Amino acid sequence: MARCAGNLSPFQGRVSDICYIAPMDSNKLIDGKAVAQRLLDGAAAKVQKITQQTGITPALATVLVGDDPASATYVKMKGKRCEAAGMKSLRIEMPADTTTEQLLAKITELSEDETVPGTLLQHPVPSQVDEREAFDAIAPGKDVDGVGATSMGNMALGIPSGFLSCTPGGIMTLLREYNVELSGMEAVVIGRSPILGKPMGALLVNAHCTVTICHSRTRDLPSVVKRADLIVAAVGKPNFVQGDWVKEGAVVIDAGYNPGNIGDCDFDACAQKASLITPVPGGVGPMTIATLIDQTADAAAQQLGVAL
Ligand code: NAP
Repeated sequence: MARCAGNLSPFQGRVSDICYIAPMDSNKLIDGKAVAQRLLDGAAAKVQKITQQTGITPALATVLVGDDPASATYVKMKGKRCEAAGMKSLRIEMPADTTTEQLLAKITELSEDETVPGTLLQHPVPSQVDEREAFDAIAPGKDVDGVGATSMGNMALGIPSGFLSCTPGGIMTLLREYNVELSGMEAVVIGRSPILGKPMGALLVNAHCTVTICHSRTRDLPSVVKRADLIVAAVGKPNFVQGDWVKEGAVVIDAGYNPGNIGDCDFDACAQKASLITPVPGGVGPMTIATLIDQTADAAAQQLGVAL
């Protein structure tokens, strides 16, 4: 379907000089902002209980290496949400020429700091830094972004003690909140990155979906996607998933976030087929940060011995 230039939200029908798109059924829309707000409210209540019982205000440490403006914005947003939930935000900024050794030293220091229950290393780091080694240096009990190998292993094995990778974890919450019956569903995840596609696949298989993970070498992607009852797009290419790849009634989760607030799915065309769909912005994005804040509150409770 043709896309139109228009100023209305992506889920309203709109009339422009060049075309008309029929209004979509707003019941199809997954409101990530509202679900995220509920999660944040719950996290704030946890933080209040922790502070009342221990006299300690939990803190999230965010480590930003280099001067990538998008990463700086994400870190700022995470800090703000953290403070809104009643926690402290400890921002550590390191120069673009930081070495792996320097970053490991900082992360080890934070892992040993009893006043910091959660540590996040903003992805991506400059190319000279071994990001995997740095992620794995975060103490598993403080890995509130769920990026370390221990967190990943626990998550893949379905061991509930660790923290989930935040974007896939947030997507699972959305699916639960919208009562999507995952058991037996054919799920297709497009993308296999360590922070998104791979953990997403693991969480879905643990929820009894039949999962196919696609990537840049997948043959005839449209026909694979067409089989899906649930599509998770995590490609990093604007408007990549086309409406005619989507089976009638499929649930479409767009994890993509490309310049200009554009998702990985051609929203208007995919929404015509989907039974449920996430918008961009306002779908998956708010859930990532809310999951991070909630997991930080849980980490603080675990470390301070507070039963929630
Ligand atoms: P990434 O590391 O670049 O991974 C992209 C994946 O897409 C790779 O596995 C790649 O395959 C696959 N891919 C690329 N071209 C493809 C093609 N033509 N056909 C099929 N697969 C293809 O990206 P990411 O970090 O996972 O992020 C993906 C998207 O999610 C981005 O838009 C990012 O901004 C967004 N994101 C959003 C949030 C949020 O909070 N909303 C959080 C994180 C990321 P290969 O492995 O074969 O290269």
